[in-house]
Amino acid sequence: MDFRVPAEFAKNLEEYSRFLSQRLTPLMAGWYAERVIPRDFFAELAARGWLGFDAVDGGFREQPALQQAMLLEHLGTISPGVGVSVLVQISLGAKGVVLFGNEEQKSSLIPRAARGEILLCLGNSEPLAGSDVARLASRAEKVAGGWVLNGTKSYVTNGYISDMALITAVSHPDAPQNSRISMFLVDLSSEGVTRSKLHKEVWIPSDLTRIQMKNVFVPDGKLLGSPGRGLQQVLEIFSNSRITISALTLGTAEGAFRLGLDHAAKRHVFGKRVIDFQAKSFEAAELFSRIEAARAVLWKTCWEKDEGLDFRLGASVSKYLAVDLARAVGAWAADLFGAASVVFEHPVHKFPMDAWASSLGEGTQDVQKLIIYREMMKRHGLHPAG
Ligand SMILES: Cc1cc2nc3c(=O)[nH]c(=O)nc-3n(C[C@H](O)[C@H](O)[C@H](O)COP(=O)(O)OP(=O)(O)OC[C@H]3O[C@@H](n4cnc5c(N)ncnc54)[C@H](O)[C@@H]3O)c2cc1C
Repeated sequence: MDFRVPAEFAKNLEEYSRFLSQRLTPLMAGWYAERVIPRDFFAELAARGWLGFDAVDGGFREQPALQQAMLLEHLGTISPGVGVSVLVQISLGAKGVVLFGNEEQKSSLIPRAARGEILLCLGNSEPLAGSDVARLASRAEKVAGGWVLNGTKSYVTNGYISDMALITAVSHPDAPQNSRISMFLVDLSSEGVTRSKLHKEVWIPSDLTRIQMKNVFVPDGKLLGSPGRGLQQVLEIFSNSRITISALTLGTAEGAFRLGLDHAAKRHVFGKRVIDFQAKSFEAAELFSRIEAARAVLWKTCWEKDEGLDFRLGASVSKYLAVDLARAVGAWAADLFGAASVVFEHPVHKFPMDAWASSLGEGTQDVQKLIIYREMMKRHGLHPAG
C-alpha cells in the first residue's frame, strides 16, 4: 500500500490552507459571535472545487474519500463548527441524493449543491429516536399526487440555513420494522414547516435547528429512493459520512494538540517550560502517537472506500478512535492553558466542546461499538448475539 499523498492532493491542500487563512481565519471571531456561517462561504469553496465534487465533462463527480478526508481534517484544525456545516452539505445532503436520487433528482440538485447554490441537510433524529432510528414517530401519509408529512426533527445541523432537507418518516405504519420508513426531499420553505434554532455550545458557528412539520405536502417526485427503504437508506448515508466525521474529529484533535503543544513550549512554570516536565512531554508523545494511529486507520478506510471495498467496519473504528482521541487531546490542551481555556473567545475553548459534539454525530461511541462488534464477528465467521 502506497502512503504517499498524491501530488495533486498535496497541492490542493496547500491552496485550501492559503484560502482558509484569508477567507476564514480573519472572519471567524465575527461568525462565532453571530453564530452564523454566511452562505457565500459555501459558494466560494465550491468555486475552487472544495465542496465535495469535481466538475467533469459538463457534470459533477464526487471526490475521492481520501481527498475529502484531508480537506475536512484541515478545516477541523481551524474550526470544527465550520467543518461540520461543510460536512453536512457534502456527506449528509448531497451524498444522500447521489446514493438514492433518481436521474431527475440528481440532475436538478447535484450541480446546484456542488456549486453551493442550494444547501441541503438531513433531518432524522427525533425526541424519541436517536440511536434507535427505527423508533421514528414522524408520519408520511399518502394522498393524491404526493405525501403529507407531520412530525418533529429535533436536531438538524444546517437546518436553519438549508433550502432542502432529507427527511425520514413512517410511510407504511403496518409494515415490518425495517420497511416502515421512507425518505423525502422536503423544501424547507414549504407551508407547514417551522424552524427554530437551538442555543447550543458546541460546533459554533453552525446552526442546530428543530424542524417541525404540520401537514407539509411533498409531491410524489420528491420521494427519495424506494418507498419503505428509508431506514436502510439513512443508515447507509451515516456509514458513508462516518468517514468524513472521523476526518473532522481527527482535525479537532490535531487543532487542539498544536495549540497545546505550542503553549507548553512557551509557558514557564517553576523555572522551566511546561513541556520540559517529563509528565507533560510523555503525555504529548502518547497523544501524538494516537493521532498518527487514528490517521492511519482513517486513510486505510478511505482507501477501502475509494477501491469499492466494504468500508463499514473501518468507518466505525475510525470514528470510535477519533472521538476517543479528540476528547483526550481537547481536555489535555485546555488543561495546559489553565484558567484562560474557559473563556469562550479563547482559541482552545472550542476543541473539547467540539469533541463532545463529534461523539454524537453519525452515532455515539456505543453505537460504533455495536457496529464494530457485529462486523468483527462476521469477519470471524461468528454470529453476533441479539
Ligand atoms: C451537535 C449535534 C448535531 C446533530 N446533527 C444532527 C443532524 O444533522 N441530523 C440528525 O438527524 N441528527 C443530528 N443530531 C442528533 C444525533 O444524531 C443524536 O444525538 C445521536 O444519534 C444520539 O441520539 P440521542 O441524542 O437520541 O441519544 P440516545 O439514542 O437516546 O442515546 C442515549 C445513550 O444511550 C446510549 N446507547 C444507545 N444505544 C445503545 C446500545 N445499543 N448499547 C448501549 N448504549 C446505547 C448512547 O450511546 C447514549 O449514551 C445531532 C446532535 C448533536 C448534538
